[in-house]
Amino acid sequence: MPEILLALAAVKSVTNLPVVASMSFDSGPQRARTLMGATAEQAAAALDEAGADAIGSNCGAGIAAALPAVVALRANTKKPLWIKPSVGLPDLEEGRPVYHHTPDEFGGFVPALIDAGANILGGCCGAGPEHIRRVAALVASRRRKH
Ligand SMILES: [Zn+2]
Repeated sequence: MPEILLALAAVKSVTNLPVVASMSFDSGPQRARTLMGATAEQAAAALDEAGADAIGSNCGAGIAAALPAVVALRANTKKPLWIKPSVGLPDLEEGRPVYHHTPDEFGGFVPALIDAGANILGGCCGAGPEHIRRVAALVASRRRKH
């Protein structure tokens, strides 16, 4: 985790713009650890203290696997959570990654992420315009209800 703390300090030293610090949590039994073993709890606390304006989770093993990290991040920071999961793990077909979650399947996980504390939602690997349109529609629908 020292790399992201150094990067955050460097960026904060040259701009007053809000800075999102995001890591991938796709290791460990709950998929809530980084590849190097940092927990989402540790990341949230360290990035919050270091001055990140929003703290995120990106990519990983897919939107279905993103929830434990979101819960752990929210439990350790009041900063906005920027959650940008991949669509899922791809299969390789003729040497190209092919993702199988449809926009509706991807969007099916959005309410749980919002309930867990996600404030900014998007998509990483495998997410196309239709996935993002589905997420935006779900967020807009939730806003109208509240
Ligand atoms: Zn990705």
